[in-house]
Amino acid sequence: MYIDPHAHMISRTTDDYEAMAAAGIVAVIEPAFWIGQPRTYVGTYVDYLSSIVGWERFRAGQFGIRHYCTVGLNSKEANNEELAEGVMEWLPRFALKEGVVAIGEIGYDEQTALEDRYFRAQLELAKELELPVMVHTPHRDKKRGTTRSMDVIEEIGLDPSMVVIDHNNEETVAETLQRGFWAGFSIYPSTKMGNRRMVELLKQYGGERIIVDSACDWGISDSLGVPKTARLALESGVPEQTVRRVCYANALEVYGKSGQMREEDWLAPPEIDQRTLYAGNSILRGGREPIIGTEAQKRRDDLIIE
Ligand SMILES: [Zn+2]
Repeated sequence: MYIDPHAHMISRTTDDYEAMAAAGIVAVIEPAFWIGQPRTYVGTYVDYLSSIVGWERFRAGQFGIRHYCTVGLNSKEANNEELAEGVMEWLPRFALKEGVVAIGEIGYDEQTALEDRYFRAQLELAKELELPVMVHTPHRDKKRGTTRSMDVIEEIGLDPSMVVIDHNNEETVAETLQRGFWAGFSIYPSTKMGNRRMVELLKQYGGERIIVDSACDWGISDSLGVPKTARLALESGVPEQTVRRVCYANALEVYGKSGQMREEDWLAPPEIDQRTLYAGNSILRGGREPIIGTEAQKRRDDLIIE
C-alpha cells in the first residue's frame, strides 16, 4: 500500500488512476497549485478549488483511490495582488471542507515581497486553524529559499512537526530534518531528483520524517513515482520498514493531523460503482459499461479496446 502525497490529478488521465491503483496507491493528496498559466480572475481560482475538493475527489474514488487535497494561494500567483487578495478571502472557507488536509502548497518562487506577504498570511491561517502546511520550495536558488521558508515558519511560531518542506534535494535535506520539519522529496524523471538518488538518500538518512511523492502534474512527470521508488529501494536493500514509512506511513501521520485522513478510509472503502453520479454527472461516456466492484482488475488486463 502506498500514498502519493503530492499529485496534481486534475491534470492526469483515467489511465493514470488505473495504473496508480494497480501499483498499490490507495490515497493521493492534491495540492492546490498553479495550472501552467496564471489565472486572471478570482472566480477561476475559486472554481479550481471547488474542483479539487469536489469533482476530482469523486473521480479518484471511481478508480478506487481516496483523494485528499490542500488549499492555498501558490507563490507564482501571489504576485498578482488583486487576485491574491480575492483568493485569501475565500481560503478560510475552503480550508474547512471535507478532505482538506493542509494549507498548501505555499512558499516562494522568485522570493518577491508579495510572495513573502501571502506566505506569511497563509502560515497564520494554518496556525489559527491548526492545520498542517505543505511548503513548495523554489526550484531556483533552492538552498536559500528553503532556509528562508523555515526561518519564516519559525518566526510565525508554527510547530515544525506540522509542516512538510517539499521538493528537497541533497543540498537541503540535512537542514530540513535537523530543524524538525518533515522532508518531502518529489521524484522528477531525469532532472532534479530521480529515484536512484532518492534511494541513496534513504540509505544515508533512513526513513524518519522523510516523505516520497511524485508531484505529477501537467508537465513531464511520472504518476508511478512512489511505487517505482519503493520497488527500487527494496531491491537496493533499503529495509522494508523504511520504505513503508517514506512511501506510506509518514504522509499519513503528518496529514492525518488534520483529522481528515484516516487509514479506515481505504481499508474499508466504499465499493467502486461507476454508475455513481456527482452533481448529476458520472465518469462514463455514452453507452460505456460501468465498472462495479472487483471488475477493475479484469478490465485493466483486457487487450481489447472497445
Ligand atoms: Zn506541486
